[in-house]
Amino acid sequence: MTLDALLETAVTAVADAARACRRIQADLGLDPLTKGDRSPVTVADFAAQAIVSMRLAAADGGIPLVGEEDAAALRTPEGAERRARVCAVVEGVTGVDDPEVILAAIDRGVYPGGPTGRHWTLDPIDGTKGFLRGDQYAVALALIEDGAVRLGVLGCPNLSHGGAKGSVFWAARGGGAFARALDGGEASPIAVTGGADPAEARFCESVEAAHSAHGWSARVAAALGVTRPPYRIDSQCKYAAVARGDAQIYLRLPTRKDYVEKIWDHAAGAIVVEEAGGRVTDISGRPLDFSRGRRLEDNRGIVATNGRLHDAVLAAIEGAGDQ
Ligand code: AMP
Ligand code: MG
Repeated sequence: MTLDALLETAVTAVADAARACRRIQADLGLDPLTKGDRSPVTVADFAAQAIVSMRLAAADGGIPLVGEEDAAALRTPEGAERRARVCAVVEGVTGVDDPEVILAAIDRGVYPGGPTGRHWTLDPIDGTKGFLRGDQYAVALALIEDGAVRLGVLGCPNLSHGGAKGSVFWAARGGGAFARALDGGEASPIAVTGGADPAEARFCESVEAAHSAHGWSARVAAALGVTRPPYRIDSQCKYAAVARGDAQIYLRLPTRKDYVEKIWDHAAGAIVVEEAGGRVTDISGRPLDFSRGRRLEDNRGIVATNGRLHDAVLAAIEGAGDQ
């Protein structure tokens, strides 16, 4: 299958999953479970992983999937009601009604990733805490080939595109970045905005103070002479914001020494920003290394910018010190 065909498959899969999440956010009780790492997971996370996994498997000729979720919690007796809700959502989108097929589609996301060959990486709901608050979240899917991101798609059900609610963003390496309304319509190219003067810039960061150090970013902003307040928005919508010029800087400054970023939290967003003309590194200026498996083992924190501001932002992060 060509990369163009894989991109088309990926955009359709993400848009279908994102629209299903939007219906769940509007209609269903959310009823989150708490995972072993204490992060929440909902019916929508499982359903979105199943929908994307099944859509890809039907078309991609067997490319493995690194997905955030697995179906273990749906296989227990206590998980029966939740399993039924997930399966009803997935059946409504795909027509598949066999729970075993649906759970297996979720579970194929256990692939370990690594430096060779092709694999997808999926965050079925990035920003689950935003989803639960009724705020922003994203369905994020990327194709990694020999350790490098080749394609990325972000479905953002609560981010508007022109007058329409919901956007989808995508990029292929060397092919530029694009956006359209989630419900369809014309694709338009997107590009970063702003010059090299930080005083004009707006920066975005996590809503969750546990995910990015707000005090540290405030010191960085002060050192740069940024005057606008931070744009706090959940999920990889931050990458979309930089890619289309709503902000010029995305800071993700570590709150803990031992946290290692996950590839599905960054692969799709990073290629969208790079193809929109921006730059993405970790806080030391190292390129993000997607070849190390399920996590960015060699990176610490994230900095995405319009490119022109990048070196100044890295210098300010170093100058503003760690926690
Ligand atoms: P955001 O919406 O930008 O706050 O990011 C959501 C993502 O943060 C989730 O998908 C988690 O994988 C990730 N996450 C969880 N704990 C941490 C942490 N301590 N530092 C950075 N990211 C985290
Ligand atoms: Mg995530």
